[in-house]
Amino acid sequence: MSETIEFQAEARQLLQLMIHSIYSDKDVFLRELISNGSDALDKLRLASYQDKDLEVDTSDLRIELEQDAEARTLTVRDNGIGMTRDEVVELIGTIAKSGTAEMLAQLREAQDGNAEDLIGQFGIGFYSSFMVADRVEMVTRKAGTGEGVHWESTGEGTYTLEPVEDAPQGTAITLHLKPEDAEDSLHDYAKPETVRRIVKRYSDFITWPIRLITGEDGDTEPINSRKALWARPKAEVTDEELTEFYRHVSHDWQEPLETMRLSGEGTFEYQGLLFLPSHAPMDLFMREARRGVQLYVKRVFVMDDCEALVPEYLRFVKGVVDAADLSLNVSREILQQDRQIQAIRKRLVRKVLQTVAALQENEPEKYATFWTELGRAFKEGLLTDPDNQQAILAASSFPSTHSPDGTTTLKAYKERMPEGQESIYYLTGATRASIENSPHIEAFRAKGFEVLLLTDQVDEVWTDAVSEFDGTPMASIAKGDVDLGGEEDKPEGFDDLLTWMGTELADDVKEVRLSTRLTSSPACLVGDPGDLSPTLEKMYRAMGQ
Ligand code: ADP
Ligand code: MG
Repeated sequence: MSETIEFQAEARQLLQLMIHSIYSDKDVFLRELISNGSDALDKLRLASYQDKDLEVDTSDLRIELEQDAEARTLTVRDNGIGMTRDEVVELIGTIAKSGTAEMLAQLREAQDGNAEDLIGQFGIGFYSSFMVADRVEMVTRKAGTGEGVHWESTGEGTYTLEPVEDAPQGTAITLHLKPEDAEDSLHDYAKPETVRRIVKRYSDFITWPIRLITGEDGDTEPINSRKALWARPKAEVTDEELTEFYRHVSHDWQEPLETMRLSGEGTFEYQGLLFLPSHAPMDLFMREARRGVQLYVKRVFVMDDCEALVPEYLRFVKGVVDAADLSLNVSREILQQDRQIQAIRKRLVRKVLQTVAALQENEPEKYATFWTELGRAFKEGLLTDPDNQQAILAASSFPSTHSPDGTTTLKAYKERMPEGQESIYYLTGATRASIENSPHIEAFRAKGFEVLLLTDQVDEVWTDAVSEFDGTPMASIAKGDVDLGGEEDKPEGFDDLLTWMGTELADDVKEVRLSTRLTSSPACLVGDPGDLSPTLEKMYRAMGQ
């Protein structure tokens, strides 16, 4: 019994983009299919460790590529975990990635060139098959189940599903190649040399065997070298290999901003290969945002998204940690308590903070990219990671009255502090313009005191948790009686007026007092230290609290 099902609306739109191929480098479809095959093999091996009764064959796990020059097909086959019928509908028929709707909205507005960039940031995985194929078939059987399913689509709105009696374990994807690519011998995907070249370029580090079927009688040729990058000496690994590995683990299509290596010997043995991305992941500020570090145990994949290894504010860090002395059966809950994992996490955080600090010091352009894309998440650590608060502050940067654009580090701020200034001053608000026009700032300007202008929502939160930087107090100029050293000049004779105003305004303010902080404005509102800032108050109100 065959059934025809419609793709989810978002999926339909992305497929249209693939069919009309706005992405210039079509070769990447093979990287995506191999990456999925590799994930499926990782999952199967892990499932077989965790469930000894699972009826699966793990004796020769591999990815196979088979071409038919006459029929013009390319098949990518794995004997991994496979999918049930419902999983196919869920995983292939819809796009579950958070941020999809936003991305599609941006795509509708984008020019052709920008559209490619957006797709690059999003990554379209399996759908990239439709860049090179006008019809795609898939046969898959979930490990441990009896019946398989056949899926087929031209990418135009619908797909068909049909049960298959004797499907082999895993997933086979057959691409019916578009005729136009046959004319371009470099991109003729029915030719062995084309797939050899692409695998070498994009998938060489995949640790599972990738084999090309070369003869009628099923002869195969291994076409990848299977080196676990994180276990190889740094000098042996090229930048291209690192980039492709990054793309595999991060499901991102762009280049990483920075690569970091971790290793530990002795009591806890581990290796790590980590990356800072060059752009903010789509889901960075969504509730379900995932952390990007995979856990391996002695080269065996154990889990994606290992939250025990990475604090939330560094959720954009991608990569792999391979630990030597853990059980493969370890659960997420147990990991949180594991001393080895805690030690690695500490090291990982330190490494990331050092790396950001080094970018700040030596590579201003890269640092600027990091800060624009990821700074807002990074600053959450000022609140949530008190142990590293000072290091996070040092590696952060902020707009200030010192210059109309650009940012300053706190170290540079301190170096500019004039005689008589005792604190680092800041003011939070919705926009730079609104802060700069605030009456609070006048007296500071007049004195030549620099003020940090903090406009991110997260600034409202961490500023309450941070009291000093490197021995210098940090003070909001909107709170309390910030001492500008002008007490002795306070004019007298205003007591009656202040008492009268205090009574008249009793419902709205706590106290009316004379201030030395204003120069041209007659009055301003200040909060007590410990009070919510006006922006935070607005945020809470908007949330109904
Ligand atoms: P991503 O890999 O980024 O999740 P894809 O579009 O490449 O996105 O794949 C979507 C999902 O379909 C995968 O997450 C996986 O669950 C499932 N999938 C794709 N290919 C395979 C495969 N060969 N074996 C098992 N599951 C697969
Ligand atoms: Mg994928």
